[in-house]
Amino acid sequence: MEYKREYCCPECGLIWIQKVNAGAINNIVCPECENQYNYACDTFGYAYAAQSIKENLEKNNKKIHYDKEHPFYNK
Ligand SMILES: [Zn+2]
Repeated sequence: MEYKREYCCPECGLIWIQKVNAGAINNIVCPECENQYNYACDTFGYAYAAQSIKENLEKNNKKIHYDKEHPFYNK
């Protein structure tokens, strides 16, 4: 079964919709910077990760932004 989740990249700040397969080990790679350590932002745990993501982005001079296929793009 395939479903969609929202992912956030702590390196470049991209938020995008990713198709994942239930039951498979999904290697989620950021489509913008190819960072492999990303967070699902639709989980409860994301609330705890969000602050460190924000700090990391500020350090790298990056901002949260949405992929063009994300419903919040340009909003
Ligand atoms: Zn990225």
